[in-house]
Amino acid sequence: MYGYDIFHEDLMNSLITAVREGISSHAYIFEGDRGLDVESAARLFAAALTCANSEIAPCGACPSCVEAKAGTNPDIICVTPDSDRKTIGTKNMRALEGDAGIKPFAAKRKVYVFPDASLVTEPAQNVLLKTLEEPPEYAAFILVTENADTLLETIRSRSVIVHFPAVSESAVRKYIAEKYPEENDRLDFLAKYCAGIPKRADDIIADEGFEPLRKSALDNLPLLLGRRGTDVFKLQSYVDENKDDFVRILDFWTSFLRDVLLLQTGADDGIINVDKRDTLRRICAAHDPQRVVTTLDALTTAQKMTARYVNPKAVTYWLAL
Ligand SMILES: [Zn+2]
Repeated sequence: MYGYDIFHEDLMNSLITAVREGISSHAYIFEGDRGLDVESAARLFAAALTCANSEIAPCGACPSCVEAKAGTNPDIICVTPDSDRKTIGTKNMRALEGDAGIKPFAAKRKVYVFPDASLVTEPAQNVLLKTLEEPPEYAAFILVTENADTLLETIRSRSVIVHFPAVSESAVRKYIAEKYPEENDRLDFLAKYCAGIPKRADDIIADEGFEPLRKSALDNLPLLLGRRGTDVFKLQSYVDENKDDFVRILDFWTSFLRDVLLLQTGADDGIINVDKRDTLRRICAAHDPQRVVTTLDALTTAQKMTARYVNPKAVTYWLAL
């Protein structure tokens, strides 16, 4: 869309149409998973806000649009931590406050884009709040975050919150097929596993350890469903060897068991791990549905325990029981 790689054309169309009609706010919170590339949507929106031809913004041809696309528009300011810091502090926000007092260089708007607003510390958010309370006529702020709730309520209440939802499986499939034609063999699995978050595929494809770990999780799944004492020991040693990947192993097990349950109920179409269908069918035949359901419940609890930093060995012991 307008040369920007975005996944939410309809949503952006409605926001941009409002800008063309002269309706825009001073502050926006763009909320969505990192894998939805909300930052690109924010950059497109900044281009629309600064375009010289407001009726057709972003026209793509005016100097402002050209510079916006190249990332060199002096009226679109990207707010990130200083190179030696991980967060955006009060010093940065005071500097921004001063900068916002200076009129735009060439465009009619001056837009501050925060690619990750969760990095703004709470004291710094309070400084930013002052600017948001009485913004200069021309200023606009776009705060990108995975979760708007991490921002102060006072910031949220002064902003238009735009939620970017997960996209369709077919949109994910299209993204992967175009970007990674060599992944055709596991395209079906990836399109489902990414659960509406296209760029999750980038991480999976770049991670050489993903498939070996997933395979080992599947190989060890029968131990989790088994009832023999020796299974518990084997399971413990498997987890011990892979304790750094325990969270992912739990995710894999949950995903596999959901599929087993679907196969048991005949709902084959819904399974995620389509490339492991035969193995899952064998597991499905060897264990009764009730056992699968209780194990799946236990896995949900195990994930919560892990989130509370209970160590993998203790969680596995509890799971096996
Ligand atoms: Zn333009």
